[in-house]
Amino acid sequence: MSDLNVFADQRQLAPWLQPLWNSLDFASFPSAILLHGQSGIGKFAFSLELAKSLLCEHTQVDLRPCNQCEACHWFSTGNHPDFIALVPETHRKMLPHADYEGDDLPKKSKASRDEPDAETSEKKEKKNITIEETRSAIEGLSIGSHRGGNRVILIYPLELLRSDSANTLLKSLEEPPANTIFILLADRLDRVLPTIRSRCRLLSAPRPERNEGLTWLHTQLTKISGLKVSDAEIETIYDEQGGAPYSVLDSLITRHNKDEKDELSISIQASRYLLQSMSQGGRINWLDTAEKTYKAQYAYLLAAMQRWVADLQSVTQGGTPRYYPKHLSTLKSLSQVTQTTKLHHFWKSLIQARRHENHPLANRVQLEALLSQYQQVFES
Ligand SMILES: [Zn+2]
Repeated sequence: MSDLNVFADQRQLAPWLQPLWNSLDFASFPSAILLHGQSGIGKFAFSLELAKSLLCEHTQVDLRPCNQCEACHWFSTGNHPDFIALVPETHRKMLPHADYEGDDLPKKSKASRDEPDAETSEKKEKKNITIEETRSAIEGLSIGSHRGGNRVILIYPLELLRSDSANTLLKSLEEPPANTIFILLADRLDRVLPTIRSRCRLLSAPRPERNEGLTWLHTQLTKISGLKVSDAEIETIYDEQGGAPYSVLDSLITRHNKDEKDELSISIQASRYLLQSMSQGGRINWLDTAEKTYKAQYAYLLAAMQRWVADLQSVTQGGTPRYYPKHLSTLKSLSQVTQTTKLHHFWKSLIQARRHENHPLANRVQLEALLSQYQQVFES
């Protein structure tokens, strides 16, 4: 069961990304695209489909990969020599990989999927794309493509490219090698170097409407045998995850696999605890909350806080909650004791904190400071 892979079954396009696909001009495809949008809405799956299409050796009417030619087969088994993916180790499970290794298949590109030589890398390192990988991938570009067609380089998340690597990339973007297409992915466009941004065709990936996202999710879940989860629970997680269906699917499967030590499970549990505490407004026990949650990913906690505060701001102004509609009554009663100026300051503090969130784990002291500031929001 632990092999159940969230991405194995999803390489068809999510319906909300179909218009984006239709807008692509395959006849004169740009040498670099930068696909950006909220995390967990299907950018990665979209990019894999796109890469496969650009490498497919049959001409397709609908411009989707044929899934029959040699190139498509190699791609699906993680062996296409002209597909290079620069992703942190933590994201490698999302790539297509071989179920078998035949002798007749070409050698994989060294930079793409091999484990790092030294297994000394700390957790933090695993979240980065290393300079060695980038350099060796980019240096390899001076040689022609293996198959004589396109070559595709996928980088995700672009925000995690270290600055030395980013400079190496920038040089290639300035003088793109022939037949080479860069597919760059970013969850946060504001974190991408403007010099890189300006050399790419920007593509904005939309988030689905709630109903569309939920319908898609239900379809995906029916394909997973033995996964039982109630509709109400799906909706709760859906809202918690900010309406990102792929994130929801990932967390449901992770839970299904009962991999309790998994980083995402820890973060989900922690953010629930956090929200429960925050829903108590001025009665929040911030010391206890920080104690119980600080082992989760800081970015994850901050995102949950931001969603909660966004909803609180909205309700305070007479609007409706976007992320936690089920907590409308709690939000309403909190809004009556909310000091709006303080809430606005707290929002700014969260944005400030998100700028430094790349530290993989939450810092307990920082969390305590934020949560105690949250408590103040309800005190006149
Ligand atoms: Zn093909």
